Amino acid sequence: MELLSTPKQLMAYCRNATRPLGIVPTMGSIHQGHIELVKQAQSECDTVIVTLFINPLQFGEEKDFDSYPRSINEDSEVLSSYGVDALYFPETSLIYPDGFSTSINVYGPALPMEGLTRPGHFDGVATIVAKLLINSGPDNAYFGRKDGQQLAVIKRMVKDLEIPTNIREIDTVREADGLAYSSRNNLLNSNQRLAAPILYESLSAGKMAFEGGERNPLVITGVAFEILEAAKRKGLLFTIDYLEMVDLMSMMPWSSGDAMLAGAIRLGDIRIIDNVILVENNIDGISREE
Ligand code: AMP
Repeated sequence: MELLSTPKQLMAYCRNATRPLGIVPTMGSIHQGHIELVKQAQSECDTVIVTLFINPLQFGEEKDFDSYPRSINEDSEVLSSYGVDALYFPETSLIYPDGFSTSINVYGPALPMEGLTRPGHFDGVATIVAKLLINSGPDNAYFGRKDGQQLAVIKRMVKDLEIPTNIREIDTVREADGLAYSSRNNLLNSNQRLAAPILYESLSAGKMAFEGGERNPLVITGVAFEILEAAKRKGLLFTIDYLEMVDLMSMMPWSSGDAMLAGAIRLGDIRIIDNVILVENNIDGISREE
């Protein structure tokens, strides 16, 4: 596996890479969700680059940035064992040198939910993803539905800026108890880890109501809320940031078409997010989510 640490090295590598070229942007602490992205990229591309950059621009609180898990040596070994062609892990000072003064501002799908809870987060995401796409010029870039709002924001940005890269997506990869793999799961203590699957459980209940024919967003979110409230009554310790049913593309309140039921809860200092996709015209009976 080639190790690339500067934007110039990345650009030179990509100029000579055998096409199609795919990139998989990550913040490291590689887990099964990232690995599935790599596998998807490998099945569609001749060259696959994983990028690993913990992007300070997308963190609100410094505490969250400082405590974000870091494991570059293990990550590098795991990615190499999966046959990744190159790993790009630049220093922050090379990505945002002194005097850096440019930001991509995203509106529309970036505004609700995570946008309200984490002001500026998606501008930070869009800025780094745009930089990575400009530097590498890939045919495809791979993202997970786990971060469904992020995916909608990136698709919107790529469309609006006419960046010639296909955005490819994979379903959320989950642990046996339903908890979506996430680098932040490493920060949960044992009680928090036991409580964490409640978010997916509640979203799944909402999805079941939708699949049973329910179409009133208030009823669907109500079903999900009730699972969370019942868990709280039983003594599970967490707070709810939001739980919303939105249009899959615009992230605006749902009225028709495909939807996303998304939620965020806090377990102590750790915030976890998840979502399920509600496919309205599920003709063959197979949901896109599973
Ligand atoms: P991160 O390292 O958390 O920034 O994530 C890098 C990419 O992996 C993003 O496109 C995420 O949506 C995706 N990802 C993270 N967790 C999962 C998961 N459990 N299943 C599928 N994709 C994921």
